[in-house]
Parts: sequence; C-alpha cells; structure tokens
Amino acid sequence: MSFFPKPVEPHVACQTLCSASLDWASSLPDEVSKRQSVSRARTPVRRSFDMSLVASFPATIRTPALASRRANPIASRASLRATRPVARRSARVATAMAAAVPIMVNDLTGKMGRAVADAVVARGADVCYLVPVAFSGEAKDPVTIGDVAVEIKSIRDGDPGAVLDDLKAKHPGLIVVDYTLPAAVNANADLYVKHAAPFVMGTTGGDRVKLLEDVSASGVPAVIAPQMGKQVVAFQAAMKLMATNFPGAFRGYTLTVTESHQSSKVDTSGTAKAIVESFNELGCGFDIKDAVLVRDVPTQIAPVPNGMGVPEEHILGHAFHTYRLTSPDGTVSFEFQHNVCGRSIYAEGTVDACLFLSSKVGEGCASEDCEAGKTLFDMIDVLREGGMVTN
Ligand code: NAD
Repeated sequence: MSFFPKPVEPHVACQTLCSASLDWASSLPDEVSKRQSVSRARTPVRRSFDMSLVASFPATIRTPALASRRANPIASRASLRATRPVARRSARVATAMAAAVPIMVNDLTGKMGRAVADAVVARGADVCYLVPVAFSGEAKDPVTIGDVAVEIKSIRDGDPGAVLDDLKAKHPGLIVVDYTLPAAVNANADLYVKHAAPFVMGTTGGDRVKLLEDVSASGVPAVIAPQMGKQVVAFQAAMKLMATNFPGAFRGYTLTVTESHQSSKVDTSGTAKAIVESFNELGCGFDIKDAVLVRDVPTQIAPVPNGMGVPEEHILGHAFHTYRLTSPDGTVSFEFQHNVCGRSIYAEGTVDACLFLSSKVGEGCASEDCEAGKTLFDMIDVLREGGMVTN
C-alpha cells in the first residue's frame, strides 16, 4: 500500500549534461555503498522502468550490524524480533489513520529545516502537513509557516521523549525530519529510535557507522542520506554504473574538475570525490587534490568561461560542478555539469523521503521491503520507488 496520493511517474533520467546537484555529502559514496549492500541483498527491483543497473551497484562495504547478522543470523533475527514490534505497533496506527502524512521538522529554525518546512506546506495539505512542534538546540519563539504556528522546544531540556510520544498520539503516522548539527546526529537518532518514531535523517556528520548500525538494529523505519537531492544521487549512481559496466572507457583522457561552493566550505565536495572515483574507474587517473576549488566570490560570479556564473543571490548557498574530459589528441571532449542553487532540491527530496517512509510503515505495508523486514533506507531506495516528485 502506498501513501502517495496520486501515482508518481517514474522518470529516472541521468543526463550527460545535467543541471542539478550540490554537495553536502562528504560521506555519500561510502554510505551509498554500505546501504546498497543491504538494499541489494533484500530488495528486488520492482518498478516498470529499468533500474537493474542501479541494482547492480557494487556491494563491498557492509555495516557491522549487517555483518554480525550474517555471522549469527538466528541471534540477530531474535534481537530484531525483540525490537521491531515497537516500530510496527506505532506504524499500524499510522496506516490506519493517515491520509495526509504529519511531518515534524527538527530544526525548522535552521536553514535546511526551514526549507523542508516550506516544502511540506507547499506540497499540499492533502499530501502532508507540518506538525506544530519542533525541536531545536534550545527553546525559541514560535515560528509561523503557512498557517501553522510551530512551537520550538529545546531537545535538551525537559522530557523530549514525552513530547515525541504525545505528538505520535496526536498525529498518527508521524514522520520526523532531522536537519540539525553533526554533533547532534547520534543523540537525536537515539531519541527517535527509543520512541519508535520513523525518521528521515538529512543531517550530515556524526558517527555514521554507529548511526547506521543502531538504526538498522532497532527496526525503526528510517531514511538516512547525507545527500537528499535525488537527481544528484541518480547522477552519481549513473556514473558509478557506467564505470562498473565500461571500465577503462575513458583511458588516456585528461580530466579536469572544477567545483564552486560557498566560501565557508573548506574541503573538497564529497559529490565531486564520488564522481571522480567513477571517472578513475573509467581510466582517467585523476588525483582529487588537483580539483579546482572555487571559493572566491568574484570568480564565482564571473560569467563562464572565466568564472562559474553563479547567480549573486546564491553565493551563500550553491554547489556547481564541472567535469571535463579531453581525448589525448584534443579532438574529442566531454563535459558533465551539475549546478545547484539554493536548497529546494534537498527539501523536495526530503519530503519525498518522508512520503516514501510513510508508505513503508504500518500494517498496510505490502511491499517486499516490509515483508523482508527491511527498515533502513537511503535515497537510492526512494529513487527505486519512483518518488521523483518536484513541485
Ligand atoms: P543550520 O545551522 O542552519 O541549522 C541547524 C539548526 O539545528 C540550528 O537552528 C540549531 O539551533 C539547531 N540545533 C542545534 N542542535 C540541535 C539539536 N541537538 N537538536 C535539534 N536542533 C538542533 O544548518 P543547516 O544549513 O540547516 O544544515 C543542517 C545539516 O543538514 C548540516 O549537517 C548539513 O550538512 C546538512 N545538510 C544535508 C543535506 C542533505 O541533502 N542531506 C542538504 C543540506 C544540508
């Protein structure tokens, strides 16, 4: 059973020249690999479009939870049985009641949280609605988004668990979204797990191995992805597939990589690293240290080809990437580009992830995932379901 109110057209399109992306996801390649190993093992491809290539992602890294489950399947099945009913019980309530999915956004006073809250409201009250309470690092004045006045409570003071329980009772089928701080990732996930609140974790950083292990073992449904831009994830997956299927296809070609982000970002884009990994499998032999990081505003604003052509209003929030391949004799060139301004791609992906997750919980869940006991998902899973919704 799906909570999508109307059929969603699957149109996974990875274009050679793609104008969408960004990078918040330094750990994405690892995380996708790890999660793929779980997905591939348990989830058959089941859409009408051909995602078999995505399904053939290499599975090289396994989470400790999965590894230990494999090593001792009986003991780990028992531990899952012990924990999963909590999630399933709360989920049953959700399925029975929820036509529109209630979404709690922590912290909607932050930049991403606000973008997600706006996207929830924009998606329409028949699809989902904003829960009028949010957690932040500290209590703050209420914030009105659309016609919802949201109370901002401290996650550190009082009894946040009781608040969550109360919200779950008042808003059956509650899905929690987390865009907070890397330092809060593990503690916040523990809270959601402890109170069997299905959640979408967009926050990056923290102890990712522990996060995946804890959440997977808990049986509480969750989507965890450091890159919520579905089209970017699809593009990365497509590059990975090309590398897997045609290794060495670009041997001898020279690769140049240029990426531009807000000047506060000091490290190389995680998305660029992942894409370069694929190019290297295609034979390019590129050292990621040679990527050109554009962080000075004049170059960012200057029009192509001298600058990056970033619109001035997005200087503080953009992610532009250009990968150029040139043949040894210079007669052939390829250019791959994905440029993102603002946060809407992540916010939209997050709402889609919430709707996806909602369809995975509850008694009515008839998908293979539910049957197989799969409860931990990533954006590849969302893509596989064809949840490519944009407003
Ligand atoms: P921000 O600083 O604007 O917002 C963070 C908010 O979290 C602040 O309002 C802060 O008060 C609040 N906060 C602090 N501790 C908290 C706690 N323990 N519980 C609840 N709230 C707490 O940051 P941002 O730009 O919104 O980014 C948030 C996170 O999202 C970062 O980790 C960023 O890398 C990540 N991000 C992920 C994606 C993605 O696609 N997955 C996209 C963009 C950003």
